[in-house]
Amino acid sequence: MKEPLQIFQGIDRSDVPAADFHMHTTWTDGQASVAAMHSRAIECGLEWVLFSEHARRTSGEWFDEFAQEVRALPTDSCRALVGVECKVDDFDGTLDAREGILSTCDLVMASVHRFPGEVTFLKGDAAGYSKKEAIDLEFRLAMAALANPLVDILGHPLGMCCRRFGHEAPEDAMRALIAEAANTGVAFEINCHYHADPWQLIDWCHSAGAPIALGSNAHSVSEVGRIQRILKGVEEAWNPSGSS
Ligand SMILES: [Zn+2]
Ligand SMILES: [Zn+2]
Repeated sequence: MKEPLQIFQGIDRSDVPAADFHMHTTWTDGQASVAAMHSRAIECGLEWVLFSEHARRTSGEWFDEFAQEVRALPTDSCRALVGVECKVDDFDGTLDAREGILSTCDLVMASVHRFPGEVTFLKGDAAGYSKKEAIDLEFRLAMAALANPLVDILGHPLGMCCRRFGHEAPEDAMRALIAEAANTGVAFEINCHYHADPWQLIDWCHSAGAPIALGSNAHSVSEVGRIQRILKGVEEAWNPSGSS
């Protein structure tokens, strides 16, 4: 796994790591600049952030400029890392990314965003998959990503099914992914936008020995550090039964 190592093997309830490893900016679909997100991270007391910007195989030259902007940030109170969130393309774990971009990054995150052939996010079974089929597809794509040596973090595992069907993913599938993450050394992301019970997942990661990355999935300054606030019990977690 790449340096610097800020991916955690053990997370103590009384000492939540001050590292938010999932945020987006105006370089893609976020609402705030790199500088604004970083300032907010400092205000929140974060010591590490990963700018996990979306990029695709077709993404242009902007990524280098984005990376330079992140690397130019002040490092005295909060270190900022350059990252990418790539879509998992197929059941071989192929990433929708260019080698030039991957090699620029400190950490590479792979996430399941669409099922093969799907062009937009569809709620429930509108995509033509039953819940069981959808979980199986997402599980297989995530397992394939875990086996890809280019991947450092598995982004929001089974999160598409959690959001699509408004529920927490089944324990057996989550635990199987966590076991494989422990096996391959890829960090299992606990993402508060997709996961309703972060501490439960952390406990499962601990028992399997899987590395963990904490992610707020922040697309605005107000979301920076949200996973830390949820883990500390000062902000409500996502409630599947209350979602539309
Ligand atoms: Zn994502
Ligand atoms: Zn994201």
